[in-house]
Amino acid sequence: MEQDNKKLITILVPAYNEEEVLELLYERLKNLMDENINYNFEVLLVNDGSKDKTLQIMQELRIKDKRISYLNLSRNFGKEIAMIAGLDYCKGDAVVIIDADLQDPPELIPEMIKYWEEGYDDIYAKRKTREGETWLKKFTSKMYYKILQTFTKIEIQKDTGDFRLLDRRCVEALKSMRENQRYTKGLFSLIGYNKKEILYDRDPRAAGQTKWNYGKLINLSIDGITSFTTTPLRWAAIIGVIISIIGFIYMLYIIIKTLVTGIDVPGYASMMVVILFLGGIQLIFLGIIGEYLGRAFNESKHRPLYFIERYNEKKETNENLNK
Ligand code: UDP
Ligand code: MG
Repeated sequence: MEQDNKKLITILVPAYNEEEVLELLYERLKNLMDENINYNFEVLLVNDGSKDKTLQIMQELRIKDKRISYLNLSRNFGKEIAMIAGLDYCKGDAVVIIDADLQDPPELIPEMIKYWEEGYDDIYAKRKTREGETWLKKFTSKMYYKILQTFTKIEIQKDTGDFRLLDRRCVEALKSMRENQRYTKGLFSLIGYNKKEILYDRDPRAAGQTKWNYGKLINLSIDGITSFTTTPLRWAAIIGVIISIIGFIYMLYIIIKTLVTGIDVPGYASMMVVILFLGGIQLIFLGIIGEYLGRAFNESKHRPLYFIERYNEKKETNENLNK
């Protein structure tokens, strides 16, 4: 297949406990690959340490169809890391990242390819609707984008997931950023290049359970903010200065008042309020500093981002580990 000069498109699918949908996904992708004969396709399934039969299904699919490749991570690393592992191993001239649960319709891929041929490098799919998601999830996601956007200078695309087509040069750019606590959604914006938005309706999950919970979401949000901006640290300093100025003015007022009217003992309540309030603010800012310090500590260890157990039939020896 490789000897012809058709372009190769990799479809990268991170999957964690997706035994219920993989075959359905394969059917949809197979249709797509068979219909678009002007391109060669590679489907790279990344098994992110699933505890169910996901890996077996991937192996069976590869036996059936050699366009399928799979990468088995040594344990569950989370979707962000599963994606960079996939980017490291994909061969395509362009890569489409897509969720395993068919929430992102593969039928959109030909449109993405069309724009890619027109010269766009990063064609991302923006959700028009979010069916099958609770209002709470929609609301929190909306608030989150708002907060993130006020903190960061680079523009984060709203209502956009990881479903997108990336040109090879975007892939290389993403691969060059080896941070451990990855926030890929921000990295997509950070790399720049010619971006093109297409709209779609997000379907409900085809089967299986969402792997997200609010704990994970909160962590990802904090990662999103702390990996892209140090604005919170600056806010801490600014608020500190403002409070000091207020405190100084209040101090002058008390000194003058004491000189004029003598010492006035009551004032326990107001003192307690000020102590508790300032104590709280100090703890919050210590926490923020700690958050950044912790990130610096983690990144300074330069550990590999992931370990590969197996790439297709080949057992990985980890001799040439990722940087
Ligand atoms: N996923 C993964 N590792 C994880 C969690 C999720 O590779 O630790 C994959 C999952 O299999 C799916 C995609 O990431 O293909 C999105 O996950 P999910 O559908 O659970 O998230 P949601 O769509 O609810 O945001
Ligand atoms: Mg999903």
